[in-house]
Amino acid sequence: MPNARETLLIRYGEIYLKGQNRPFFMNKMLGQVREAVRPFGAEAWLSDGHIYAGPKRREGDGGTAAWDARACAERVKRMFGIHSLSVATELPKDFEALAGFARETARARSGSFKVRARRSDKRFQPDSQGINREIGRMMLEANPSLRVDVNSPDWTFYVEVRDNMYVYIDSIKGAGGMPRGTNGKACLLLSGGIDSPVAGYMVAKRGVSLCAVYFDGFPYTSERAREKVVSLARILVESCGPIRLFSAPFTPVQEAIRGGCPEALTTVLMRRFMVRIAQRVARREDADALVTGESVGQVASQTMAALVCTDNVASMPVFRPLIGMDKIEIIQKAEEIGTYGTSILPYEDCCSVFTPKHPATRPGLRVVEEAERGLDVEALVEAGFRGIERLL
Ligand code: ATP
Ligand code: MG
Repeated sequence: MPNARETLLIRYGEIYLKGQNRPFFMNKMLGQVREAVRPFGAEAWLSDGHIYAGPKRREGDGGTAAWDARACAERVKRMFGIHSLSVATELPKDFEALAGFARETARARSGSFKVRARRSDKRFQPDSQGINREIGRMMLEANPSLRVDVNSPDWTFYVEVRDNMYVYIDSIKGAGGMPRGTNGKACLLLSGGIDSPVAGYMVAKRGVSLCAVYFDGFPYTSERAREKVVSLARILVESCGPIRLFSAPFTPVQEAIRGGCPEALTTVLMRRFMVRIAQRVARREDADALVTGESVGQVASQTMAALVCTDNVASMPVFRPLIGMDKIEIIQKAEEIGTYGTSILPYEDCCSVFTPKHPATRPGLRVVEEAERGLDVEALVEAGFRGIERLL
């Protein structure tokens, strides 16, 4: 087909809801798509309120340079802010070119279909209804084994008449959400478990940038446990953008708790120290909230009563995007975002080493505060914060 080439038609999600701020979101999105498609030898542009991506156009080049539109689509679909996209064939705005391509498509396919045309260029003739009718008829002529079914066809031949003509059949679902970095920054408490990477992903999907802190129980936990957290952060970076990851030495806190507090309160006390240290990191990194992978009732440290005790030491919002999710749903999500396989590697984390046999499921705030009275909370938090090291 002369002059036919593949172009990505990219549909963004909620950006269209943004009134006055829309240009800000659009520019962010466009900039990020440009960056994502560059390694594919492609460029992205805005036209008609839509984002397109295709091979770099050069003078005298009909735009037919070979490029892998599908591989590029695989990359773009994982970007936050993208609702869906299609690999479209770009045709000159000419009815004969469309007819030729439609016949070719019809010959290669089977089953039932319909034609769905949209015209933003109203000068193009025939109009949408006319295109549907005439192109549909030609396709049936070209392949009489096809059937037209306007209600639930096996496939739809989409025609979009814009600055050029774009024809496609399938749409690929995008990651959804808001473009990276359009909604402030939060600090993720990233363990090596299944839940916290998913929690970070979900908050980042709303446009929030992340930094992360890992509480390191070395030497009770191994070097491998730390490496696993770095691997998880690297997986998150692919969708969430750059993440500064820190480790904080947690062994002194754990030993102090073990030495001076009732065993049943260990987990909730550890969680309170994590929050205190994490918010120091957050403030230093210009983050305004914490993110954890807690889900109400999942384990003893995540009962309502325990969460109340944890939140009591927080001076910034603690986001818990998994709060209402079941473990099975969280696992599905972890598989979908590609962190599950790494999360289930068997290196123990700091909490499992110190987990009490009979944790208190309904710790009262006063009892917990009383238990901390024997500890030098300030000094432990200060030492934890001073000891942070950058891992990524
Ligand atoms: P995860 O799978 O995320 O480890 P979990 O179900 O094991 O969660 P807990 O161990 O109770 O639950 O931890 C609850 C949350 O506290 C975690 O989701 C994480 O945000 C934070 N957290 C726990 N341990 C650590 C750690 N070693 N470093 C950083 N954050 C941690
Ligand atoms: Mg855990």
